[in-house]
Amino acid sequence: MITFFIAGLLVHVVFFISIFDIYFTSPLVHGMKPQHLPLPPPAKRLVLFVADGLRADSLFKPEINGTVRAQYLRYLPHERGAWGISHTRVPTESRPGHVALIAGFYEDVSAVAKGWKENPVEFDSVFNESRHAWCWGSPDILPMFAKGASGSHVHTYTYPATMEDFASTDASKLDTWVFHEVKGFFNSAKENQTLLSILHEEQTVFFLHLLGIDTNGHAHRPMSKEYLDNIGLVDDGVAEMVSVFEEFYGNDGKTAYVFTSDHGMTNWGSHGASHLSETLTPLVVWGAGVQIAQRTFTSQTYDDNYLEEWGLETYRRIDVNQGVLPLQYLDNSQHFKAESMHANAIQILEQFKVKMKQKKETTLSFLFTPFLTDSKQAEFVRHARELIQIGRFDEAIDGCQALIGLALEGLAYYHTYDRFFLACSVLLGFTGWTAYVILIILKTHAGLRKPPTSRDLPVSLMAIQLLLLGVDATLLVHTEALPHRNAIAQTPPRCNSLNAMCPQVLQVALCTYVLASTHSSLQQKRGLPLFNQLVSWATLASSFVLPLLSSTRLFHRLLSILMALVGVYLLLSTGYEALFPLALSWLMFGWINMEQETMSTQGMSNRTELSSFDFTETIDLTRIRQLRLDDIRRSYFFVFFIIIAFFGTGNIASINSFDPASVYCFLTVFNPFIMGGLLMWKVLIPFVIVMCAFESIQVSTRLSSRSLFLIVLVISDLMALHFFCLVKDYGSWLDIGTSISHYVIVMSMTIFLMLLSIMTHILTSRRIVIGRKMKMHFT
Ligand SMILES: [Zn+2]
Ligand SMILES: [Zn+2]
Repeated sequence: MITFFIAGLLVHVVFFISIFDIYFTSPLVHGMKPQHLPLPPPAKRLVLFVADGLRADSLFKPEINGTVRAQYLRYLPHERGAWGISHTRVPTESRPGHVALIAGFYEDVSAVAKGWKENPVEFDSVFNESRHAWCWGSPDILPMFAKGASGSHVHTYTYPATMEDFASTDASKLDTWVFHEVKGFFNSAKENQTLLSILHEEQTVFFLHLLGIDTNGHAHRPMSKEYLDNIGLVDDGVAEMVSVFEEFYGNDGKTAYVFTSDHGMTNWGSHGASHLSETLTPLVVWGAGVQIAQRTFTSQTYDDNYLEEWGLETYRRIDVNQGVLPLQYLDNSQHFKAESMHANAIQILEQFKVKMKQKKETTLSFLFTPFLTDSKQAEFVRHARELIQIGRFDEAIDGCQALIGLALEGLAYYHTYDRFFLACSVLLGFTGWTAYVILIILKTHAGLRKPPTSRDLPVSLMAIQLLLLGVDATLLVHTEALPHRNAIAQTPPRCNSLNAMCPQVLQVALCTYVLASTHSSLQQKRGLPLFNQLVSWATLASSFVLPLLSSTRLFHRLLSILMALVGVYLLLSTGYEALFPLALSWLMFGWINMEQETMSTQGMSNRTELSSFDFTETIDLTRIRQLRLDDIRRSYFFVFFIIIAFFGTGNIASINSFDPASVYCFLTVFNPFIMGGLLMWKVLIPFVIVMCAFESIQVSTRLSSRSLFLIVLVISDLMALHFFCLVKDYGSWLDIGTSISHYVIVMSMTIFLMLLSIMTHILTSRRIVIGRKMKMHFT
């Protein structure tokens, strides 16, 4: 049996890791030659403003009374800049948004294996390619660009993470901090000769990351006064910064400015998915080498109504999709544009070549089908070069754009080259393994004989059970369990557990009060009261101890565990999900009673009152029975309830893009570890409830847990097979995360359930008796 478990573990680990090889491989390649323009650049330095979480319409759209929020940025296209909408891609989160802006590629989905925080692969960025880069902003964003840079030419200035307290203070302070620091930096530079000369070199980049708008949007929604006022503040700040730069450099006309945003935000204050409010971000570009927005009096061909809504229909709008150089923004000769486009095309073609070479090396030569042959590539490049030499720049640009399209297509082709073959192998492997487990069950545990009693009763009972479970669990409890409920009430007072219940009931009431008062206090911006915080943590700590003090009789212990968990769950709730554990526990109550009833009608055991069972009863080994068809139903229901418990309110994916509001009773300062831990526990609570119910059923029906494990294994493998086909590597992090978590959950279910069953076993059967302990102390 041991070898079987080890083999099973191994098989599952291999299948689990396989999705990372199949779906989540890095699209990046290394070892390309950097391309340079032979012509001098129009600007010596770039100033990049990124207003995190700013929607395009929030910036451009005038208010109902006609006034404009962002006086400076909104009117730039009128005089000295170009504008457009930049279309971001899912996942619309800060990390991939900034990676796309600054490093020029779409976030690597292999980041999924590293928790999206660490750099999944080394990448090059415009900061690294610059001579010097200075960055001010959030500690969540800046370090990833400093980390990948070679040498020490990327300088970052970040505020402490505790400043991102999104509950009580004014988030726009994050932006004023950045503006203030930049001013201070240039003031001190005037007195520092070495810094002064470095600052006047070419190829410098300044990056101002402004997180206030995003934070205000999450806390107050994008229609709020806080969000809109913050846009005004950023607008004033940008205007001030421009004057600081111009003054410092003596208006030398060599500074280019770009203002944009990494992603937008939905009306309900979230981002991550592909809604237009999340993917449309503003882009305003001005300064050295930038075309001024042309006046146009013919209608522009966009199928949205933004131009009219925003009153910008007479200024040429230039939209940007990442990856390809937007030539229309450049104010330069056709020759310069053609050379730039050529360099862009060669750069992407280089990536394609490296990717193709890698694939060729790892594929058997007769199975390899090239996407674009070497001679064809050379032909494209030669043709473009010739066109530039004879001065036919427009044609050269067209040719380069076609080449870019082909090369991008080829990159995607090679990236997914092995996917089909690998997926088929895993599917076959899965099927084989599952068949093997079924055979073992049939061989060693098959007690597939007919039930001793008449068949009609159990079948009809099972039908009723299914129906009732699906339709209404409370109804079931009323019809089935009334006598048992009376039995609880009539429990003789010799157990002191009822006394233990009283504080627990009070505790749940206190939790309700704390939840309400915390949220009202946060709404009035008074922060989290210390008393509430203390009660919350005390409740959390006591929830592990209090159940152990109560009686081990079946329903007493279950009730005690439930109340301890409900208190904690309540504190972690943001809305109606607080009712979920209650509804789930009613369902579990019904289930326990039904299984007991089925057992007794089949004559499997003497009819025993459920309330008389005790968790500490040692299970008599001689009374453990052979596996029956009924047990398939039991394990099926078990898996079903585990899934319900998991997807009832949220899952791991919702931790990836979670709503911090659910931990406000415990802390309001951003701390990913504590917050993650608390949310994890919130996700686990429904599991514990189901597990406890199952423990009760094991006790009351004398089920062998090993044979049960095999059935659960087969069921979970079949589900894993299904979810394997549904894994996605494209979409919002929520989509990707959900698809992975479905697979991961099912895969790790067996291991996870074993661990959880140990925990619930302790929770249900152990008991701490305070009096006796004290005695032991004294002797
Ligand atoms: Zn962001
Ligand atoms: Zn955000």
